[in-house]
Amino acid sequence: MEHTRCLILGGGPAGFTAAIYAARAGLSPVLYEGIQPGGQLTTTTLVENYPGFTDGVDANQLMDAMRGQAVRLGADIRRGSVRPMKITIDAEKEISADTLVIATGAAAKYLGLPSEEKYKGSGVSACATCDGFFFRKRTVAVVGGGDTACEEALYLSTLASKVYMIVRRDVFRASKAMQDKVLSNPKIEVLWNCNTKEVLGDGFGVTGVRLLRKDGTEFDIAVDGFFLAIGHHPNSELFSAYLETDPMGYIVTDGVSSRTSAEGVFAAGDVQDPVYRQAVTAAASGCIAARDVEKYLIEKGL
Ligand code: NDP
Repeated sequence: MEHTRCLILGGGPAGFTAAIYAARAGLSPVLYEGIQPGGQLTTTTLVENYPGFTDGVDANQLMDAMRGQAVRLGADIRRGSVRPMKITIDAEKEISADTLVIATGAAAKYLGLPSEEKYKGSGVSACATCDGFFFRKRTVAVVGGGDTACEEALYLSTLASKVYMIVRRDVFRASKAMQDKVLSNPKIEVLWNCNTKEVLGDGFGVTGVRLLRKDGTEFDIAVDGFFLAIGHHPNSELFSAYLETDPMGYIVTDGVSSRTSAEGVFAAGDVQDPVYRQAVTAAASGCIAARDVEKYLIEKGL
C-alpha cells in the first residue's frame, strides 16, 4: 500500500494552501482534488476580494495558480474521490497516511430547479460577497429567510438599486436584530409566503423570477440577479462517523488550531467554518493545518 506523510483531501484554497506549506516543509504531500477541482470558488467568475490582484482575478486562474504553485514546490496533486474507512481512492487504491488534512469544503444549497441550474454563473449565484458587485444599480432577489439571507440582502442593498427577499413562510428564521435591519431598509422588499417556481431568462442571463404564493397564485418579478441563501452544508458526511462534528455537520476543531477529535487528523477551510467562508480565510486555515501537521509529525517522531 502506498504511504504518505501528509494526505490532503480537497482542491480548494484550503487544500492547496495546506499543500504549498506542507511541500515547503519537505513533507511531499499527496492531495486529492475530488469531483470539483478548484472548489466552490470556481462556481464564480471574477474574484475581486482575494488580496494581491489589483484588477481582480479569474477564479479558475487563481485556483490553477495555487495548484501550479503546490506542484512546483513538490506536492503530488491527483484526481479522485475518497471512500471510508481506510482512505480508498475510487474504490481501487488505498493509501495510508501519517496525517490527514480534510479540506473538502462546503456546498451551498440550491432549490434544484432546472432553470436555476441553467443560469448558474450568469445571474444565479449563492454568494453575494463574490458576485454582488456585478449587480450594481440593478435589481436582485435573495431566496431565504435566515441570517445568511438577511446578511446577503443587506450587503446587496449597498450595491443594487432594489433587493427582493423571497421568503417561503410569513416569518423570518433570522435573529430579531437582523430582521429589524432588513425591515427598516428602504431598498429591500420582502415577498412573504412565496416559493420560486422558475428562474426566467433570455438564454444569456437572468431576467426575472416566477413566484408561487401559498394561495396558489403565480406572479413574475423582473430581476437581473438571483441569489440563493437557504443554507450551506459542509462536505463532511464521509467523516462524521469518525470525527466530532457540530449539529450542522461542521467538523469541530480545537480552538484556533486545525486539530480534530482524531489524532493526526486536521481540518481546514469551509468544512470546519460555518461563519466566514471566504477564499482568503480558507487559504489561511490551510496554512494553519499544514503547520499543525508539521508540529504533530515532529512531536511523534514520524
Ligand atoms: P438557516 O437554516 O438558518 O436558514 C435557511 C433559510 O432558508 C430559512 O429561512 C429557510 O426557511 C429557508 N429555506 C430553506 N430551504 C428552502 C427552500 N427550499 N426554499 C425556500 N426557502 C428555503 O440557514 P442560514 O445559512 O441562514 O444560517 C445558518 C446558521 O448560521 C444559523 O444558525 C444562523 O443563525 C447562522 N448565521 C449567523 C449569522 C450572524 O449571526 N451574523 C450570519 C449567517 C448565518 P424556513 O425558515 O421556512 O425553514
